[in-house]
Amino acid sequence: MRRVAVLGATGSIGRQALEVIAADPGLVACALASRTQSLDGLALEHGVEHVQVGGELPDLLDACEPDLVLNAVVGFAGVGATLWALERGVTLALANKESLVAAGDLALAAWRRGGGLLLPVDSEHSAVFQCLEGRARDTVDSVILTASGGPFRNRSAAELESVSVADALAHPTWSMGPKITVDSATLANKGLELIEAHYLFDLPYARIEVVVQPTSVVHALVRLRDGAALAHLGHPDMHVPIAFALTYPERRETSAVPLDFSAGLELVFEPPDVDRFPLLALAREAGERGGTYPCAFNAANEVAVAAFLDGHIRFVDIAPLVAEALERVEGAPATDLAELVAADEEARRLAGGRVAL
Ligand code: NAD
Ligand code: MG
Repeated sequence: MRRVAVLGATGSIGRQALEVIAADPGLVACALASRTQSLDGLALEHGVEHVQVGGELPDLLDACEPDLVLNAVVGFAGVGATLWALERGVTLALANKESLVAAGDLALAAWRRGGGLLLPVDSEHSAVFQCLEGRARDTVDSVILTASGGPFRNRSAAELESVSVADALAHPTWSMGPKITVDSATLANKGLELIEAHYLFDLPYARIEVVVQPTSVVHALVRLRDGAALAHLGHPDMHVPIAFALTYPERRETSAVPLDFSAGLELVFEPPDVDRFPLLALAREAGERGGTYPCAFNAANEVAVAAFLDGHIRFVDIAPLVAEALERVEGAPATDLAELVAADEEARRLAGGRVAL
């Protein structure tokens, strides 16, 4: 029996994970965490003893001693839990991409010390992980992350000036929490995923490509050095990568509907437009600069997205706000969590100052 701590249990990923756990006799939830929402109903339904609303996630993890941590918290708030699991060699099923983006170097060092498994839940990274499995590193040329292009793929720059929060939340292919849905509309999500892939798969940025595949059927591709490319396909359904990570390496059945290839499935690929969606290029730049630039990119983006969702800024203000914050931060590497938290706070302060103007 695998005991799973579900962090972010009331969220989109957390709820789908609880469905996967309930359907699998080999899995049991041992802890639930949320930020503010009550967990009483879920705790009762899933028979979970350790429950925490707010507070420090490592305290909950110390108390429940899980076999696997599913980090499905949103934002930098997930950093402590990611480092807790990696440091101890406890299997980490990681949906919370922001923690790996912000704390990449610290996380890799903790992962090396802990020696445990880090299983991506993000669909693209789960797909890459599966395409890379069992393959010698020197046979791999590069990785291609696919993006849906979001709800504004076909909107002109002029049209983007007046899109609403509701427009941004209407994702064409995935149903997700509000923050990642806005990130998908700006393509910041793919920028975060680029940095996530760099750390997860130990690849230089030049060997990670992003391509738009509007139906989200191809989750990622891996190019091999002989000219072949492997792809991972499926309907956009997060139950698959969640179940993959929770049951690894057993790969159990899921509720996902299989693709019908004889029904005239057409796959279209196109390049992303970094002029209309500059956050993708900014993320690449922040990743390549390294140090705490990715942390600052993430922090400023979190502030900007929250301000957009609260109606304080327009959709088109998000990218310039992040760009300005990045220009003003120092970006020096963090040697410990306290320094990382300070870098995160500094970028939030800079971005927050712009929101208030
Ligand atoms: P969501 O907004 O639906 O849920 C977020 C959850 O995190 C909630 O349960 C909330 O209470 C909890 N939370 C937030 N701050 C917390 C804190 N300080 N302590 C404890 N709990 C806290 O978000 P989501 O869409 O489920 O996404 C979660 C993470 O997974 C994000 O990092 C996102 O980028 C990633 N992700 C999501 C999807 C998806 O399909 N939803 C796909 C890939 C990756
Ligand atoms: Mg993704």
